[in-house]
Amino acid sequence: MLEVTDLHVSYGNIEAVRGVGLTVEPERVTLVLGANGAGKSTTLKAIAGLQKPHAGTVRLDGRDITGQAPHRIVRQGVALVPEGRRVFAPISVAENLRLGGYAADKSAFADTLAKVYDMFPILADRRSSPAGLLSGGEQQMLAFGRALMSQPEVMLLDEPSMGLAPVVIDAILAKVAEMAQAGIGILMVEQNAQAGLDIADRVVAIARGEVVYTGESGDARNQASVLRAFLGEA
Ligand code: ATP
Repeated sequence: MLEVTDLHVSYGNIEAVRGVGLTVEPERVTLVLGANGAGKSTTLKAIAGLQKPHAGTVRLDGRDITGQAPHRIVRQGVALVPEGRRVFAPISVAENLRLGGYAADKSAFADTLAKVYDMFPILADRRSSPAGLLSGGEQQMLAFGRALMSQPEVMLLDEPSMGLAPVVIDAILAKVAEMAQAGIGILMVEQNAQAGLDIADRVVAIARGEVVYTGESGDARNQASVLRAFLGEA
C-alpha cells in the first residue's frame, strides 16, 4: 500500500500541492479528479521522485520513499506512466519494453515480458515496429507495458485517455481495470471523469493543491458538489 501524508510541493514561490494526503491500495483504482492546474500531475511527479516535496511523506508498505531519486522509487515498486505517454518513437516496441525493465529483477524479465504480451496482444503483434508508428491507443498500451516491465506494486497514470477517441478510451480504461485486477494499486489522474468513475473504486478530488473530497466512487457520483465541480453536471 502507498500512503501519501501531508505532501507539499512548490515551484519557486508557488505552492502547487498543499498538504495532499491519499492512499493507494492493491487491486484498487483511485481516481484523482480536479480542474486544470489543481496540482494533480505535481502530486504524481512528487510521488515518483520527479519533483522534490518540501514537506510530507510518501510510504510504500511502511517504507519511507519520500524524495528519493526516480530510479530508486521505480526499483522499489512505484512506476509512473507520464502524461503524453512519452514512448521512444524511433525504437521498436520490444526495445521500449526492454528499457522499461532495466531497473527490475533480470531473472524475471522473460516472464514479465510474456505477461505484458499476454495482457496486450497488440504489442506482441507489433513488437518489431518503431513505437512512433503505433496509434495513440497502442502507444498508451505500450506506455502501460513499459511501466509493467518494472514489476510495479503501484502505478501512477497521468491522463491515460488524453487525445484518444471515445471507443479507444473505453479500451484503455478496461486495461487499467485489468491491471488492478492483476494486483496492482492504481492512482490515476483522468480528465474524463465519467469514464474514469466507471472503473474507479475510490475518488480523490483536488482543488488548488488541496484534497477537497475523498470517497468511494459510487458515493462520489451521488455527491452534488463533486458532480458540479468535476463532471460538469448539476
Ligand atoms: P493539468 O490538468 O492542467 O495538468 P494539474 O492538476 O495536473 O493540471 P499541475 O500540472 O500539477 O496541475 O500544476 C499545478 C500548479 O503548478 C499550476 O498552477 C501550474 O501552473 C504549476 N506548475 C506546474 N508545473 C510547473 C513548473 N514546471 N514550473 C512552474 N509551475 C508549474
